[in-house]
Amino acid sequence: MDSVSVLISGAGPTGLTLGLELARRGVAVRIIDKEESFTTASRGKAGIQPRTLEVFYDLGVIDRVLASGTQRLPFRRYRRDRLINETIPYLDNAPTQGEPFRRLHFMPQSRVEEILRERLAEYGVAVELGTELVEFEQTDVDRVTATLATAQGTEQLSAAYLVGSDGGRSLVRKQLGISFEGFTEEEKQLIVGDVQIDGLAPDAWYQWLDLDLGVVMLCPLSGTRSWQIQATPPVDADGRPMEPSVQALQRAVDRATGMPIRVHDATWLSTSRINVRMADRLRVGRVFLAGDAAHVHPVLGALGANTGVQDAYNLGWKLALVLAGAVPELLDTYQEERLPVARWTLDTSVASTRAVFEEMTGGIGGAEAGLTQETLQLGLEYRASSLSRAMLGETDTGVQAGDRAPDSVCLDMAGQLVRLFDVFRGPHFTLLGFGAGCETALREVAAGTPDDLRTCLLGERPAAYGLGADTLVLVRPDGYIGLTAPSGDSAAVLGYLGSLLGGTVPAATA
Ligand SMILES: Cc1cc2nc3c(=O)[nH]c(=O)nc-3n(C[C@H](O)[C@H](O)[C@H](O)COP(=O)(O)OP(=O)(O)OC[C@H]3O[C@@H](n4cnc5c(N)ncnc54)[C@H](O)[C@@H]3O)c2cc1C
Repeated sequence: MDSVSVLISGAGPTGLTLGLELARRGVAVRIIDKEESFTTASRGKAGIQPRTLEVFYDLGVIDRVLASGTQRLPFRRYRRDRLINETIPYLDNAPTQGEPFRRLHFMPQSRVEEILRERLAEYGVAVELGTELVEFEQTDVDRVTATLATAQGTEQLSAAYLVGSDGGRSLVRKQLGISFEGFTEEEKQLIVGDVQIDGLAPDAWYQWLDLDLGVVMLCPLSGTRSWQIQATPPVDADGRPMEPSVQALQRAVDRATGMPIRVHDATWLSTSRINVRMADRLRVGRVFLAGDAAHVHPVLGALGANTGVQDAYNLGWKLALVLAGAVPELLDTYQEERLPVARWTLDTSVASTRAVFEEMTGGIGGAEAGLTQETLQLGLEYRASSLSRAMLGETDTGVQAGDRAPDSVCLDMAGQLVRLFDVFRGPHFTLLGFGAGCETALREVAAGTPDDLRTCLLGERPAAYGLGADTLVLVRPDGYIGLTAPSGDSAAVLGYLGSLLGGTVPAATA
């Protein structure tokens, strides 16, 4: 039987991000997908949230991602053929020192996936298409045995860990017996698809949101000649919603817009319903759930793929460290940290949906009503996590353990300009010493440094960190602050790393 460290079932944005996180740390990984070819369906075109752009910065794909989309897409709301509102979301959100990305980035999800696959290939890993996970067993205490079906027959594979990033209908979740509580609003379905459109310039997201005439949203897809359409299905002669087709979409467009817009050449057609559901656990033994397999919710707010990418980013470094000998309890913190985020995502996307529906009943706004400063996901934090340790006094007002570590361009002790996101970039922990008072502690920690720690002594305390005194800040590989400590407290840092990495870090020398 073949064996691998991690088997990832499902090569959407979640599985691909996890694959990259593991591959760049040298973990033996296989990533499979039951589809015979890669999807070209746009799906999450309203894009990539700033926090995910930061993840992509770390993963080395940011240039390709930024070159493939736009952050200046006007939203145009019409009532029939009359323009009633135009706005560009987040136009006032200029980048800051601490938050270099503060706007939603519009691009088709299929292009994001293509970029992640290209990056994965640079580590020698290819998605295995036409390979379906059909069942798995956790009989052995330290292995999972998976059965994979391919055109050539079935294969048994032994893996140290299995991750189900296999979407909303997740086989992994079902086989684990994990419940998926929540609700589905059958009556609020939309036909969605990728089509060609004649009669509109591809320079805005056009939206008709009419309670009587139905919803039609037409969004040009960056880098392509296609548009994503979302429309209320017209009813057939028996009063039933029509199945997705170009004819049905044309009828919906004619009815809602009254404009000479022609829909043709669909490359993807589907039905989308409002589903609000989440798993009550993200782990059973050596098997994990991530992304849509663990939580599904309305698309307004643009959170689905983003939350999946960030699940994977949380899990990847933990799996890699445990495989390399860190304490296995580190893996428990995945569920501890990500289940509350899944709950937040459900609540937030439901609130976004409600806000857009309110605009439908009398307002002039459109999908931007569901986009808030919160949906940018920069405020997500793990302060309550057992991995977050604050050793500073209560009076300190700066960043706290569990917060996202802000970016900043600042001077190091040698007087060189450094960008913190470049210091964090890579699979390591980073110990930042803010101020000269941290120099000795940094040296002490560096003396016992494991390979996965980088230190950086800064000559200033950038405003984004809000620190009132010289401070040690330990940043996790996923860019969240694990520990804050007074400038001289090297023991706190070494103790923290030692407790995580299984005592492989030597104690500080006096
Ligand atoms: C119209 C629309 C608009 C959206 N807009 C946004 C948006 O603006 N922003 C946003 O963040 N999200 C958006 N989403 C949601 C987003 O598309 C999903 O949240 C995202 O695709 C989830 O990623 P995932 O990797 O977890 O799962 P998926 O993308 O569903 O990938 C799961 C993969 O697993 C594979 N698989 C399933 N079962 C097996 C098996 N047994 N063996 C092997 N492989 C298997 C599937 O073939 C699939 O490729 C939108 C969705 C739609 C439909």
